[in-house]
Amino acid sequence: MAMSQSDLDRLADDTYKGHILQSSTYCERCGYNLRTLPYVYTCPECGNEYNARPLKMKGIFQPHTTRVPVGDIAAVVFSVGGALLFGIGGIRSADPTRITIATMFLLMSLPFQWRAYRGLRRLAHSRAVARQIAMEEGE
Ligand SMILES: [Zn+2]
Repeated sequence: MAMSQSDLDRLADDTYKGHILQSSTYCERCGYNLRTLPYVYTCPECGNEYNARPLKMKGIFQPHTTRVPVGDIAAVVFSVGGALLFGIGGIRSADPTRITIATMFLLMSLPFQWRAYRGLRRLAHSRAVARQIAMEEGE
């Protein structure tokens, strides 16, 4: 019998059905402590659907996965820097080739700008959740 990835996922989820989270595990969205709740369930605080099964870990707060998007920021600096260099040079010398290259650099930077923005927003959210967790654990 051939099994698809979703069949395997369902099997793995079944293995954890009825199991209760024994240790502090936090909701990714609101930081609520899900200990004593099932592995696959919905956060009672914010309604976030989560799956705490190892290797799945969906909707679960994982501080180590949220890092500053250094690569995307570096790509933005490089591509915007290139756009400025060619753009300024192109305008000064009225050189359409340089202006075209500057435009290409600028267009190239757009997806990196978007990814860097998303990464920084995720980071800010993760820091806020971490603060929330620290506050509630401190009570
Ligand atoms: Zn929640």
